[in-house]
Amino acid sequence: MEQPLFVIDADKVASMAKDSGLSVLQLLPSLVKSAQKLARPPISKYHVGTVGLGSDGRIFLGGNLEFPGLPLHHSVHAEQFLITNAAINGETQLKFIAVSSAPCGHCRQFLQELRGAKEIKILITSTENGGDSEEDEVFRPISYFLPHRFGPDDLLDKDVPLLLEPHHNGLVLDNVNSNHTIHCNGNLNGGVHDLLKSAALEATNNSHSPYSGCPSGVALMDSEGKVYKGSYMESAAYNPSLGPVQAAVIAFVASGGGKYSSIVAAALVEKEGVAVQQEGTARLLLQSVSPKCDFRVFHCSSSVNCCKKPSS
Ligand SMILES: [Zn+2]
Repeated sequence: MEQPLFVIDADKVASMAKDSGLSVLQLLPSLVKSAQKLARPPISKYHVGTVGLGSDGRIFLGGNLEFPGLPLHHSVHAEQFLITNAAINGETQLKFIAVSSAPCGHCRQFLQELRGAKEIKILITSTENGGDSEEDEVFRPISYFLPHRFGPDDLLDKDVPLLLEPHHNGLVLDNVNSNHTIHCNGNLNGGVHDLLKSAALEATNNSHSPYSGCPSGVALMDSEGKVYKGSYMESAAYNPSLGPVQAAVIAFVASGGGKYSSIVAAALVEKEGVAVQQEGTARLLLQSVSPKCDFRVFHCSSSVNCCKKPSS
């Protein structure tokens, strides 16, 4: 069976457009149904799919994720999936987005974290609720959906990197670590922990957390030894922020990961004793999706050369 396609490279996009006789922008809504099939909403059974065009011509897909046994606010919205998928793949802008139903307030807010958010254009493919399809299926700027925005401009200096822009948080692991928490088995060798620890540190160094100053990152490993990284992403409005485990789970799903129970190990890197801590929530989510997962927490601090670009 073919792997789900969460990223379509620019050449493939061009050939798909040509073969179907559509422009690249017309291709976006045509892929929304495929994106909906990639969603995993076991609670609502309501599949949201979204498709975004990157600055280099690649197309990214996203779908919503829900986690049975946890409060609904742990869910991942399709637009958050899309943005995280773009971030994982080094994309810095999404200017056109097609989505299967009207973006909720949470997502309209989350999108504000992107540079030039006001210019992002959104097309809603679902017109079942009273819309005229000819009229409704057009790209409209996000300012149409959220006219009086609150966002990064209200809280940050103009030169602070926004979501999807490169972040170099300049963090290094503390020498004394291993505030570890193991759910079970614990048969993994030290090399696995070192690998996960450095991957989680890398994710922490890419974390977008300008509001709290509390970056964090998670790395997951599946039973085949593949590693998936997720960076914590904050929203100016706080609640739409996306936790690092959710971001790593998005990476897992977007890479064609199967059942969550195949996640065997996880590492979280964050600062110790700061205002926003992820450990408790991360443990909760991991316990819910993969109860046998080995979970360890490592702490980090700012390095002296905090502006130096990390070697990765
Ligand atoms: Zn939403």
